[in-house]
Amino acid sequence: MADKGGRARGRLLFFPLPLQGHITPMLQLADIFQSKGFSITIIHTKYNSPNPSNYPNFTFIPISDGLSEKETSELSVFALASILNVNCLVPFKDCLSGLLSAESEVHITCLISDTVLHFTREVADSFKLPRFVLRTSCIGVFRAFAAIPLLREKGYLPIQASRLEEPVPELSPLRVKDLPVINVPNEEMFYQLIAGLVEEARTSSGVIFNSFEELEQSAIAAVRQEFPAPIFPVGPFHQYSPAASSILVKPDESSISWLDKQAPKSVIYVSFGSIAAVKENEFLEIAWGLANCKHTFLWVIRPGSVHGSKWLESLPSGFLDLLGVRGHIVKWAPQLEVLAHPAVGAFWTHNGWNSTLESICAGVPMICMPCFTDQFVNARYVTHVWKVGVQLENGLERKTIEEVIRRLMEGEEGEEIRNRVEDFKEKAKFSLGGGSSYESLESLISCISSS
Ligand code: UDP
Repeated sequence: MADKGGRARGRLLFFPLPLQGHITPMLQLADIFQSKGFSITIIHTKYNSPNPSNYPNFTFIPISDGLSEKETSELSVFALASILNVNCLVPFKDCLSGLLSAESEVHITCLISDTVLHFTREVADSFKLPRFVLRTSCIGVFRAFAAIPLLREKGYLPIQASRLEEPVPELSPLRVKDLPVINVPNEEMFYQLIAGLVEEARTSSGVIFNSFEELEQSAIAAVRQEFPAPIFPVGPFHQYSPAASSILVKPDESSISWLDKQAPKSVIYVSFGSIAAVKENEFLEIAWGLANCKHTFLWVIRPGSVHGSKWLESLPSGFLDLLGVRGHIVKWAPQLEVLAHPAVGAFWTHNGWNSTLESICAGVPMICMPCFTDQFVNARYVTHVWKVGVQLENGLERKTIEEVIRRLMEGEEGEEIRNRVEDFKEKAKFSLGGGSSYESLESLISCISSS
């Protein structure tokens, strides 16, 4: 195979889980390695395949995932991930076999796969190919995932409605309701997927995190103590360089021209990521909460993200006219640019890890509305460890939404939160520019190079 770029440091194979929140950090990580002199090959499923033209120096190899259109449109992400772990095994094996036998002038150094794709272990081991993994959550979430067997043994799981507010001292400051689980019909399938993910990491040559020591010091120390594989927090990935876009949807650039017309720190940016969906009644409470708070807002509403609606049909008639220029609605925003815009004063987020980290690095305080699994942990860390946001809890109700927005946008508490997040923004920059992430990346590179 021709080596695009003809680099001397060896070739790294990457295999992302085909979901936006996983593809983005994996391709950002690949970009970081390319800047360090490695050649890059991205092995990917046909489902949600990245756009190769955004990365002219990478080699892309699609493999069969066996997913039907019905499966990709109807199944939960957890069901999809479980199916991929079965369907991709043989195609991945064939792909690796081809790559390794064709290996010519550039040595294939290792595989870096998403921890969720746990079948990659068996295949890489069979070829004696060193395997590192990328865990796309924060380290606190990984720690909670690793503790799931203990949490089940101690009776915290499955979660009981009567114990929701109880603290979980083993994972302080989490409460039972913050534990990273999901209400799915087949709970065992979820536990198996998580156990596979933890094992995939445990048996790897190293676990890479999109996080940084200055943010997650105590979680990192705990994981280092409890875990055999070396841990490499080398984030925030998106801050290394203006990386090429790994976004699967075209962003609406009117977001920026609209923000250009707004006062500094006046706008609430509202987005719940690429997967989360809300019920119609919740959608209406969000809409009225935003309308009644009298602040300006940029709201991402993905088509299909309101159950039972194609897009905006469930908004009351006249609602958009009532808002006038105070609200701008788009289907997908250029989020990094939006968060960096001086007009943005807060981010109402579902607390996916990428969004949470992007918000911290932009110095934007958060309104937290976690929807499932790891998002609950992220939100708890945001509000009770880093104290850079406030959480909407116990259901969505327009009056509460209005109050929470005012707390953050108008009050003294909001000012303190803003100062703290600014502080983390600086720490993130320091971490990459000679601090802990810089050092961690150096040691990861030497570990990979000697593997
Ligand atoms: N994103 C974006 N535009 C949007 C919404 C989201 O570019 O309108 C990006 C966002 O910057 C982040 C990713 O999509 O990098 C979402 O990942 P996250 O982990 O926050 O949530 P997920 O989509 O996995 O639930």
